[in-house]
Amino acid sequence: MSPADAVATPRSLRVTDPALEPIAAKVLEGRRLSLEEGAVLYATPDVHAVCRLADLVRRRMHGRLAYYNVNRHVNYSNVCALSCSFCAFHRKRGQDGAYEMNVEEVRDAAVEAQNAGATELHVVGGLHPWLPFEHYTTMLSTIRDAAPRLHLKAFTAVEIVHLQRISKRGKDGYEGIKAVLRDLRDAGLGSLPGGGAEVFDDRAHDEAWKGKIRGDQWLDVHRAAHELGLNSNATMLYGHVEGRPERLVHMDLLRRQQDRTLATWAEAQGIARAAEGEVVLGGPDESYPGHRLPMPGQDGLKTGYFQTIIPLPFFPDASGLEALPGPTGLENLRTIAIARLMLDNIPHVKAFWIMQTLGMAQLMLDAGADDLDGTVVWYDITHLGGASTHQETTVTDLRRAAIEAGCEPVERDTLYRRVERDGADWRIVPSDS
Ligand code: SF4
Repeated sequence: MSPADAVATPRSLRVTDPALEPIAAKVLEGRRLSLEEGAVLYATPDVHAVCRLADLVRRRMHGRLAYYNVNRHVNYSNVCALSCSFCAFHRKRGQDGAYEMNVEEVRDAAVEAQNAGATELHVVGGLHPWLPFEHYTTMLSTIRDAAPRLHLKAFTAVEIVHLQRISKRGKDGYEGIKAVLRDLRDAGLGSLPGGGAEVFDDRAHDEAWKGKIRGDQWLDVHRAAHELGLNSNATMLYGHVEGRPERLVHMDLLRRQQDRTLATWAEAQGIARAAEGEVVLGGPDESYPGHRLPMPGQDGLKTGYFQTIIPLPFFPDASGLEALPGPTGLENLRTIAIARLMLDNIPHVKAFWIMQTLGMAQLMLDAGADDLDGTVVWYDITHLGGASTHQETTVTDLRRAAIEAGCEPVERDTLYRRVERDGADWRIVPSDS
C-alpha cells in the first residue's frame, strides 16, 4: 500500500473549539504550525480534535502502516558518574543493584539476539567513571564481528560527550565529538538512539538533571552524527518539572535543526516550503515526500537526519522526583498528537509501548504515531511501579495491536526499510518492490 492509497484529505475537519479552526485550516493546507498554535493545541479542551488532526497528517505520510521492529536492548552497565534526580536506573559502583557487563557478556547477548532473528541491538548505559574509550570501540567491533547482521544503535548523546571527555579527543568539543563518532562508526556504530534529550530547557535541566549535558550539546552530538551520515532519533521526556511551553520549544529546536539538515536535499527535490528555510514533509496532496525520505547517500542526501521523534512520559516511581504525579493518559495522547503536528519534517512518531504501555500505544496509532518500536528484551531504564522492567513482547502481540487499531503492521529495520521474515530468517525488501 502506498500512503497515497489511504489518503482521502477532507476539505474540513470538525472541531468544537473555534480556536482550532485556523489551525485545522493550516494542517489541511500542509503548512507549518507556530509555537503559539502549538500552545492552542495544548490548551484546547477538544483533545480528540487534536488527535484527529494528527491522524490526518499521519495518514498522509504513512497511510495506515504501523511499523515495528525485532530488537534487543543491552544496558551494558547502570554504573554512572552522575545522579540525575529523575533517573531510577543509575547506581554507584558497589551499590546494591549496580552491575557491569563485560565485553564477552555483551557479545553473547548480541549473538543470542541475532540467532533469535533480531535486526537491531540497542546499546546504552550509564557514564562509567573508569572504563577507557577503547573499551567501547572494542565492545562495538566485537559485537559487529560476532553478530554482523545486527544494526548497532548505540550510545545516547550524553554517553558520546562522556566518551569524548575520556578519550581526550579534540580540545574543541565539537571536533572531538566528531572524532569519537568517527571511531565508533568505524567500529560498527550504525546510528544513534534518541535518548537523553529530556527537555531542552536550562531551568528544568538545572532542577532535575544538573551535570548532564544541556540541550545545545545534545543537538551538537546529533548534528555531528548527521554530518557523518548517521541517522538518529530524538526523544522528549515530559511530565516532570517542565511545562507545556518548554515541550514546544524542545520540538521547535529539533524542527529547526532538521530544517538545516534537510535544506540542500529538499532544494534538489523541489519540495514546497511554507516559508523560507522550512522543510515540511507532509502536504495536502500525493506529492509530498515524507514516505520516501531517502537513506543518507541516496537522492543527493549527503547527511543523516532525525528519523523519529519519541515522546516519553515521565515515570516518577523510584526516582528522586517520586512526589510528582507524572502525566495522565490524555496528556500522553495529546502530546504524541502535538509532536506529529509540530514536527512536520521528522518522518516518524514512535509510541514507545514499553513506556506508554501497549494499550496506549495502540490508541496512539490513531493520534499521529506510526511506530510501536520493537519486541525489546531487557529494558532496564524505566522502572514502572518501582519494579525492574525486564520486558518483552512478541511480534504476534505487536501485530495484533496494530491490526486491531485498523493498521497494516509492517516490520522495519532500524532505517525503516521493510523486512520480510521467515522465523529467525529475514531480508530487507528492496524499496522498489
Ligand atoms: S539519566 Fe543517564 S546520566 Fe543521568 S544518572 Fe541516569 S544513567 Fe546517569
